[in-house]
Formats: sequence, structure tokens, C-alpha cells
Amino acid sequence: MLTDHELRARLRRFWPGGVRWQAPMAALTTLKVGGPAQALVMPGTRDEVTRLINGCRIEEIPCHIIGGGSNLLVADEGLAGLVIGLGRNFAGIGRIGEDQCGRILVEVEAGCSLAGLLNWCADSALSGLEFAAGIPGTVGGAVVMNAGAWGREIKDVLASLIWLSGGEAVRKARPELDFTYRCLRRPDDAVILSAVFTLAPGDRAAIRKLCREHVAARRSRQPKAYGLAGSFFKNPEGVAAGKLIEAAGLKGIVSGGAMVSERHANFIVNTGNATAADIIRLMELVQARVWEVHRVRLEPEIKIAGGVTEKAAG
Ligand SMILES: Cc1cc2nc3c(=O)[nH]c(=O)nc-3n(C[C@H](O)[C@H](O)[C@H](O)COP(=O)(O)OP(=O)(O)OC[C@H]3O[C@@H](n4cnc5c(N)ncnc54)[C@H](O)[C@@H]3O)c2cc1C
Repeated sequence: MLTDHELRARLRRFWPGGVRWQAPMAALTTLKVGGPAQALVMPGTRDEVTRLINGCRIEEIPCHIIGGGSNLLVADEGLAGLVIGLGRNFAGIGRIGEDQCGRILVEVEAGCSLAGLLNWCADSALSGLEFAAGIPGTVGGAVVMNAGAWGREIKDVLASLIWLSGGEAVRKARPELDFTYRCLRRPDDAVILSAVFTLAPGDRAAIRKLCREHVAARRSRQPKAYGLAGSFFKNPEGVAAGKLIEAAGLKGIVSGGAMVSERHANFIVNTGNATAADIIRLMELVQARVWEVHRVRLEPEIKIAGGVTEKAAG
């Protein structure tokens, strides 16, 4: 691990802008756990993102990308190196044209929140993304996770994207992209810079109404908790992970400040003072018990970053 002094010296070679040191990741994630980022930068333009990513590669600085932090569990040890936060500083939206069928193509920078995008769509009377109303996080996070609800996924409305990989920004059209359930398969170092969505002209009021209905339906189903991410485990083929967890008698079990939600068993929540270690212990306990009872292996949908537990969980 680089010392702060070494990291500062390397960052100075390519980044003249501001840096936050020892930034608490708990404040940047919806689970509200995890230690600090050694250094955090929130770039505002595509050039800045590119400079940061390429600089880290050349200077051999470990680098982590975070969007809205709504699908991310950061280890208590925190994250060594640079965390690049793609958020509201990097959130432009613009119409770029029409396809042959008269549908509107809209390009969105990765840090734009889905909520912000949906508002823009409703104002612009453009339909297609209503299914995503109420999903927290950014466009970049939603593309990487192939976020979805109500039987629709981001891949269904995506026309193309630009990712930065190996120092090159490359546009990939939808047919070139390999999406699976809650996953975009991509090179390990690929950072999504922007995405183009295909939307249809629609009715402003109808778009808003459908979004409101989706948000209300979510509120009635999801747990209320101090901290939570989305569904903790991927649904195994043909069965809901929550049903397996509930049938294994695990609703309400706790590990320190972490608990399997009483309301929806596929949520592990932070009741107020959970550590990342509490959540990981509970995750492993649930996996072991579901295997014993159902002989099904549950795979985490959330991503785990940092510490000895670092793995691409899903
Ligand atoms: C209450 C609640 C409800 C939810 N409901 C749903 C739901 O219905 N459906 C659903 O699919 N999900 C749901 N989620 C999960 C989550 O909101 C989605 O997975 C979301 O798309 C994650 O986006 P994010 O910006 O928060 O990503 P983050 O949590 O910040 O990051 C997730 C992963 O993506 C990577 N990443 C983020 N941005 C980029 C980028 N630009 N380039 C490369 N990698 C990147 C990160 O490194 C990390 O590995 C829910 C979460 C919560 C808290």
C-alpha cells in the first residue's frame, strides 16, 4: 500500500485538482458502512475522468470507481489508493438524434442519477425508462449492474455506450455488449463514461404517473432501515433468493448491527451500528444455511470492495 506521501507525489504528476484525504466511504454508500478512501476525487468532465484513470494506470495507483454507492459494501479497512466518484459533477444529458423508427437517442454521462434522468425524461416527454423509477444510483452503475425492475432491464433501452479501457475510450453498440442478469461483461478495467438510450415520444403526465406508481410500489415492499443496498443476493434460476432465505428460517437473524430484514428476506440491513464485517458474517451465514436447507448456492448481487474480503461479488 502506498503511504499518503507517496500517493500525493504520484497524483501530482497528473492531477492538479482537489483531493479529499481519508474520505469516509460510509457516507458515500447506502449501506453506510466501511472505512475511508485513502484519497477521493470527484471529476467533472470526460477529460478529467480519462486523465485520472489513465494516470492511475501509468503511476500504478490502485483505483476504485463509485457511482451512487447503492450496490456497494466497502470493507472496514477502507480503500487504499484513489476512489473516483462519478456523480453529479459528471451528469450531462443531451439528445443526440433519432433512429430510423423515429425514436429519440439520448446520451447521458455516467454520473447522472437515474432519478435525475427520469425527471429529465418526464420533462422532455420521453418514455422507456419508467421501469427504473426508484432504483437508486447512477447511470454508470445501472449499466454495469444491468439494473432492472418489473421485467425490464437497462440493456432493453441501451443503444450504445462509451467505456474507457486500456487507455482508450471506445464506443460499443448494443449488439457488441454481453449483458446477463445484473451484469455487463466487460474488461476488468472498463469504466463507463456515458450511455445512449433509445426512448420513444410519450405523454408527460402518463410518464410521471407510471414513475410515481413504481416508486410507491417499491416503498410498500422495501424495508425501512438506517442503511441498505438493493437485493443482497442474485435470484437463482427460477426462484427468488428471498423465498429461499425465508424458508430457511433466517428472517430477522442478526450479526452485530446487521440483520436479515423481517420485511423482505433478500435485504441485509444496517440497523444503525453495523460494520462491514457484521454484514459479511451474516452474508456467509445465510449462504451456508441456504445451502444446508435447499442445496442452492446464493451469489451476492452487491459488490464488495476493499480489505482482505475484496472480490467481485457477482
Ligand atoms: C433501496 C434500494 C433498492 C434497489 N432496487 C434495485 C432494483 O430494483 N433493481 C436493481 O437492479 N438494483 C436495485 N438496487 C441496487 C442498485 O441501486 C443498482 O445496482 C444501481 O444500478 C447501482 O448503481 P450505483 O451508481 O449506486 O453503483 P455503485 O453502488 O456505486 O457501484 C456498483 C458497482 O458498479 C461499479 N461502477 C459504478 N459506476 C461505474 C462506472 N461508471 N464504470 C464502471 N464501473 C462502475 C462500481 O465500481 C461497483 O462495482 C437497489 C438499491 C437500493 C439501495
